[in-house]
Amino acid sequence: MSAEGIHKAFGTHQVLKGVSLDVARGEVVTLIGASGSGKSTFLRCLNLLELPQAGKLAAGEHRFEFGTGRKAPDDARLALLRRDVGMVFQHFNLFPHMNVLANVTEGPVQVKGMAKAEANELGRDLLDKVGLADKADAFPSRLSGGQKQRVAIARALAMKPDVMLFDEVTSALDPELVSEVLAVIRNLAAEGMTMILVTHEMAFAADVSNRVGFMNEGVMAEIGSPDDVIRKPRNPRLATFLERFH
Ligand code: ADP
Ligand code: MG
Repeated sequence: MSAEGIHKAFGTHQVLKGVSLDVARGEVVTLIGASGSGKSTFLRCLNLLELPQAGKLAAGEHRFEFGTGRKAPDDARLALLRRDVGMVFQHFNLFPHMNVLANVTEGPVQVKGMAKAEANELGRDLLDKVGLADKADAFPSRLSGGQKQRVAIARALAMKPDVMLFDEVTSALDPELVSEVLAVIRNLAAEGMTMILVTHEMAFAADVSNRVGFMNEGVMAEIGSPDDVIRKPRNPRLATFLERFH
């Protein structure tokens, strides 16, 4: 997928000042940067949870262009994009009144009109993939944070997205639960899923990413291999940012 010259302001606050990113099929790109640098806003622009004021977005056959005088895309087009560009958030937002399997199958059944039996089969396969085959009938309140987050990932995968966006999905977890979620993401990377991650897990990012982008004050200040960006940073702001993680 690709984004070109994305501008996003909230009121007079210009949060994204022309951010571009091209992600090849099967590529894993991680975005790092200080809090407030615009990482979440950029991810949300990639599936149009936020509408940019200017810029272009392309994902599969979906094409959007934003700018003065252009009409905002209608909800139907947004819904089609979001089927293909899945997103998982820091806070999992599972449906509390539905069991785990129903949480996973809700999207395919409601949005895609998939038959219940087929959705259940898909849901069980995905729960198996995230290591929760035995939790299909459990309710979210009975799960640990790491388990909930893995259900949230299975739920996003149930839509069979072409691209997955992960916004700090381990930041709200107790430290001992982080690795089980990272392991799921690592497996997805190994299977060739196209992914854009925002994370503060630098060792993981260096390990799993094809490229790493450093966002600073609403621009993509640096982008390159994990070696260039995380292990041998030249940009002084990037070096300062990374010092916190040593
Ligand atoms: P990051 O994810 O890198 O921490 P964000 O994209 O969340 O950064 O935020 C970038 C800036 O945009 C912050 O100053 C934040 O307060 C502001 N911002 C984000 N979302 C909104 C919003 N819905 N309304 C107003 N300001 C927002
Ligand atoms: Mg954020």
